Amino acid sequence: MPMSKTLLQQAAGFFRSFQPCQLCHADTQHQHHVCLDCWQNLPWQRQSVQRQEMQILAACDYAYPLDRIIHQFKYEQQLHYTPLLSGILQTLKYPKVQAIVPMPISTERLCERGYNQSLLLAKALSKHLQLPIWQPVERLKQHSQKGLSRFERIEDIQQQFQLAPPSNLRYRKVLIVDDVVTTGSSIHALKNCLEQLGCQEVHAVCLAAAQI
Ligand SMILES: [Zn+2]
Repeated sequence: MPMSKTLLQQAAGFFRSFQPCQLCHADTQHQHHVCLDCWQNLPWQRQSVQRQEMQILAACDYAYPLDRIIHQFKYEQQLHYTPLLSGILQTLKYPKVQAIVPMPISTERLCERGYNQSLLLAKALSKHLQLPIWQPVERLKQHSQKGLSRFERIEDIQQQFQLAPPSNLRYRKVLIVDDVVTTGSSIHALKNCLEQLGCQEVHAVCLAAAQI
């Protein structure tokens, strides 16, 4: 790394240590833009939850204050939370994989929102783990599932996922990154598509797991 960049980073870190915590605004920042108390009081989980016969690694519970932070990050363009949310994911221990697959969103959602929140998280994680991002699956229009039975919902979600135009790029061991996991049906549907592409090991991680 060039000396100038290191010095710049050190200077940025030095000035950041005087900035107020992004959550309580009272104490100064300790790491990932929050103070030590706020960091320690996040609803940590750091273990796997079982959904749809899959073990999904969950950094936290979907609980206060992380539920609000994720909501603002996802729906209110509060992207200044990206370092905090990425920092949370960086505390986990990951299985050996070859690539990171962000949960895709439909083009319609992407136009409304302007970004895919899972891709932002995946990009930070890819830098941290020094792994490539792989996006071989596209997501079609996501619509309301109200009124559908459980079986119809699972069918409907599976149909939202389709393989992107074929390419020669193939990975066998991958890690799916998603923001919030509830029933796990989206991860399950994405996993099915990845297995069709020849993936032998599909792991998954989420920032927060909601109780079901
Ligand atoms: Zn704080």
